[in-house]
Amino acid sequence: MGQKAVKYYCPECGQEYFETVKTVNHLLHFILTICTGGMWLIIWAFLFFKSLGAPKSKHRTCFVPGVRVAS
Ligand SMILES: [Zn+2]
Repeated sequence: MGQKAVKYYCPECGQEYFETVKTVNHLLHFILTICTGGMWLIIWAFLFFKSLGAPKSKHRTCFVPGVRVAS
């Protein structure tokens, strides 16, 4: 699992801030899928959909969920 910085806009104070989010290492999961004869595909799919549905990050100062800014 890697990490990357995602930019958010806080509607409360109007500031932009960065939060680190976990990313799915697809190469690693591909190798594990081959090694387990396809069984790992279930876990890979689960982690992938979990990362897509991750809740919006909150601004630590305001505790308000931000809006993701396209980078
Ligand atoms: Zn804020």
